[in-house]
Order: sequence, then C-alpha cells, then structure tokens
Amino acid sequence: MMISEKMYELGSKRSAIRELFEFGKKRAAEIGAENVYDFSLGNPTVPAPAIVNETLKEIMDTHDSISVHGYTSAQGDFETRDAIAVYLNKTYATTFTADNFYMTMGAAASLSLCFRALTTSEEDEFITIAPFFPEYKVFVEGAGAKLVIVPAETTSFQIDFAALEERITAHTKGIIINSPNNPSGAVYSAQTIEKLAALLEKKQQEYGTQIFLITDEPYREIAYDGIEVPYVTKYYANTLVCYSYSKSLSLPGERIGFVIVPDEAYESKRLYAAICGAGRALGYVCAPSIFQKMLVKCVGQTGDIDAYKKNRDLLYNGLTELGYTCFKPQGAFYMFVKALEDDADAFCEKAKEEDILIVSATGFGCPGYARVSYCVDYDMIERSFAAFKRLKEKYDDMQ
Ligand code: PLP
Repeated sequence: MMISEKMYELGSKRSAIRELFEFGKKRAAEIGAENVYDFSLGNPTVPAPAIVNETLKEIMDTHDSISVHGYTSAQGDFETRDAIAVYLNKTYATTFTADNFYMTMGAAASLSLCFRALTTSEEDEFITIAPFFPEYKVFVEGAGAKLVIVPAETTSFQIDFAALEERITAHTKGIIINSPNNPSGAVYSAQTIEKLAALLEKKQQEYGTQIFLITDEPYREIAYDGIEVPYVTKYYANTLVCYSYSKSLSLPGERIGFVIVPDEAYESKRLYAAICGAGRALGYVCAPSIFQKMLVKCVGQTGDIDAYKKNRDLLYNGLTELGYTCFKPQGAFYMFVKALEDDADAFCEKAKEEDILIVSATGFGCPGYARVSYCVDYDMIERSFAAFKRLKEKYDDMQ
C-alpha cells in the first residue's frame, strides 16, 4: 500500500458542512445569491477591528523585513506571551506569566498539541460532551487515543453529570469542553464548571490518575446579555486552555492562538515541554510572526459582538414566532433548532429544497437538531423567514 488509508479517507471525504457550502455556491449561480439562505458555515462575517489592520501596517512600516518575517522562538515571542498574560490577569484575576503560554496556529493546533502531549497509550481516552465540534474526533484519533462521547442534556445544554461520571475510567486522560458552544450556543455556568471540577477531583483520587480539563474557547468573548463565561483555570488545577483569535478578532485564515499550561497543573513544566515537543513532532515550527506581533497591541480587542447579538435576536424571535423550537443562544454564533421530524438529516434535506442551508446535528453527536449558523448578513436572515415559513407549512400539511 503506497499511501495511508487513514489519511486518504480524511483528505478525500469532504465534511457535510463543506458539501452544503459548495451546494450553496452552485445554487447561487443558478437562482441568484439573494435566493439562497446559507446558514452552514462558522466563518465570521463581522470584519476584524480596524486596529488590527492599522497595527499590521504599522508593523510593516516600522520593522525591518527580517524581524517581521523571521522565525520566532518555538513557543512564540516573549512580548506577545507577556502581553496576553497581562491582559488575562487584569481581566480574569488569574496569575499567568509569559512562560505559561505556547503560541499556536489557532485552536485546532492547540487541541492537537494537548492530545499529543497527553497520550501515552492507545487505550487512552478523551471524553467530550455532545453536542461537540466533530474535528475533536480527528484530532484525538490523530494523537492515537479514543474519543468518548457524553450524550447531550437538551434542556439547558449544560452537562449530564451522571452520564459523564459513568464514562470516566482509569483510561481517561482528559475531558474536552467548549463554552460558548459550537453548535448549541450554550455557555457553561460557574455552577457547571464547579461541579465538573469536583467530579474530576474525585475521579483523580479514585483512580490515582491525572485527568485534564481541556477547554476549547475560541468563542470566549462572543457571549450575550452580560452572561459570565467562567475562567476555567480558576476552578481546576489540571486545566489546559486552547484559545484562538479566529472568531474574536475575525482572523480564521491567519491561524493564531495559544495553549496555556498553568503552573498549578500536574508537573506543569514537563507538560509544557511535551506541548513544545508535540509542536516539534508536527512540524509546526512557530506561529505566524506578524500576527504574534500584532497581538502585543491588539490583545483584548474584538470584532463587533453586538452585530452577532442583533442577528441572534432576529433569528431566534423570527423562528420562534414561526413555531420552531429553538435554544436561545447565550454565546458563539450558532443556534440549535429542533428538527420538525425525528430524523434531522431528512429535515435538513427538506430545508435544502427551500434553499435553506442548515447543518444536521447528527454529526455533532446530537440527533434531532439542526445548527443554524448566524454569522451571516442580517438581511439574509430577514429574507429567509418566508422560506422557513414554507418549510414549517410543509410539515404542518403532513400532519
Ligand atoms: N473549536 C471549535 C468549537 C470551533 O468551532 C472551531 C472553528 O470553528 C475550532 C475549534 C477551530 O478553530 P481555529 O480556527 O482556531 O483552529
């Protein structure tokens, strides 16, 4: 066999979301872009804040080309890591230093590094809570471990603790959480994080193991109505933070983020070195230099979160009025809508017949729901209601 079948499969099978996106482009060419309601992707539509582009220009004007485009140290420029530590300490009353940070090419890289740094045997398991970002499976399996899924708690989209506890074993290396959540839009409360921390402490004792809480938080700042997004390292020592600027600064194509290994984590210096080692083994070398330099000035800035909130309100109110059952998003830019039949895949196919492109949550481990991504133009949401009404009527007529 010349090539890896595993890699071939990953590379040749397009994700369902990508398929939908491609279909949308084709339909737009046929019937006009204004008649296609594409809610499929999670690509920010709010532009990066002006200060990002101004800072990038300033960097180009004031630095020599060698220092802008050269390699940085593997863990990232000290000034960048220091600026982020200062900002987080000020905002969340944490006590990080530059040495706790490893700069990465976004959350996807951050997660992969954590799984690889922690995996020691093919029996190792990482547990995640449905609904979950499907790439977790790819990253965990890529590290040589197994992904275990806790079914969704569909009332508040917090955590079904009994189901989680049942799944924690001596092989559990970590729990992956994502709040604000893609795809449910839920934000885990302080109470949820406290309960989770207490459960993991108990299980660590029971098994004499270390269980890491891997918190995937690219949507941390995208939260509405003043809801608190608890800073997880303050609740549990063995926490690894995977952060990204893809969503907060609307820079998904630029690939910049970080991992935090707090001092309180078990053997934190060795763990940090293992994260560096995983970066080396993957050939990551260093995170993009110019975007690291940009962060020294732009850390703490965000795109216009209010634009997403306006979209959320319009979509939630509009679909609820039409008779859909929706979970009101507390953060991120996705809304979970209950499918109008048991089979969410079939429901999304029927939506597609009305040129509404929404993603079945079966792939997110949560059957019976669809994800409507509202990082889209406000006008498109308004225009889509007629189509959503037709879709609802189709089901009403079948009753
Ligand atoms: N985790 C979640 C929950 C996401 O939704 C995404 C991107 O959509 C990622 C991770 C990957 O983000 P990044 O672009 O920073 O790699």
